[in-house]
Amino acid sequence: MIIDSDSPLIVALDYASAADALAMVDQLDPKLTRVKVGKELFTATGPHLIASLHERGFEVFLDLKFHDIPNTVMGAIKAAANLGVWMVNVHASGGRRMMEAAREGVEQSQHKPLLIAVTILTSMQQSDLIDLDMPGELTERVLGLASLSQASGMDGVVCSAQEALQIRRQRGDAFSLITPGIRLAGDSAGDQRRVVTPTDAMTLGSNYLVMGRSITGSEQPAATVESILADLMSS
Ligand code: C5P
Repeated sequence: MIIDSDSPLIVALDYASAADALAMVDQLDPKLTRVKVGKELFTATGPHLIASLHERGFEVFLDLKFHDIPNTVMGAIKAAANLGVWMVNVHASGGRRMMEAAREGVEQSQHKPLLIAVTILTSMQQSDLIDLDMPGELTERVLGLASLSQASGMDGVVCSAQEALQIRRQRGDAFSLITPGIRLAGDSAGDQRRVVTPTDAMTLGSNYLVMGRSITGSEQPAATVESILADLMSS
C-alpha cells in the first residue's frame, strides 16, 4: 500500500537517545508516516538526528513548542526552518505578536515549514486554569486561541480530537488540525485521558494523527502502521 506524501500519521519518537529513535524509524516506511521529534530527543541529540531522519527519507515535525519574546521566537523558527523540517510549532498563549513574528521567521526562510500553534496543552484541565487565575471554560479558551492563531498567520493548531469538530467548523477547511491522544481499540490509554481511535479522529476533522506508544510499543510497528492506514482507507 502506498499513501505517498499524504499519510495522516505522525509517529512520536519519544526516546532519550538517537540510537533508540533510529532503531524505531528503521522499522518504519517514510512513504507511510512522518515522525515527530520533541524536546527530550532534540535536547539529547540536536540537529544531527534531524539530518539522519531526513537521510532516511522521513519528513519531521519538530515539536519544540516555542514560547518566548517575539524576536527570540522568530530566530528560533528560522533556525528550525533551516534544518529543513516539515512542521514546527509555538504556544498560542505567547500572543499575537509572538505568532506573527514566528510567521515572519518562516517567510524569511528559504524552506518554509508548516507553522502550528498549541492552544492549551491536553494535559491541562479546568482546575489548572482556575489555579492560573484564568477565567472561563476550557473549551471556549481553546476555541478563542484557535481563532487568534488563525488570525496571527498560523497554518493550524494541535488539539484534542474532542475539540477538532468545533475548531473545524469555526476555522474552515484550510486550517490544519493535528491531534495526539490517539489509541487503537484494545490499547491501554496510559497517561492520556480522553483518547479516540484513528478513524474517529479523522471523522471529527483531524488532518494529522500524532501516535506514539500505540505504534512504537507494538511488536510489529510497520504492520501496525499498515493496518491503521488500511482501516482509514476503508472507513
Ligand atoms: O504515546 P502517545 O500516543 O500518548 O504519544 C503522544 C505524543 O503526542 C507524545 O509525544 C506527546 O508528547 C504528544 N502530545 C500530546 N498532547 C499534546 C501535544 C503533544 O500527547 N497536547
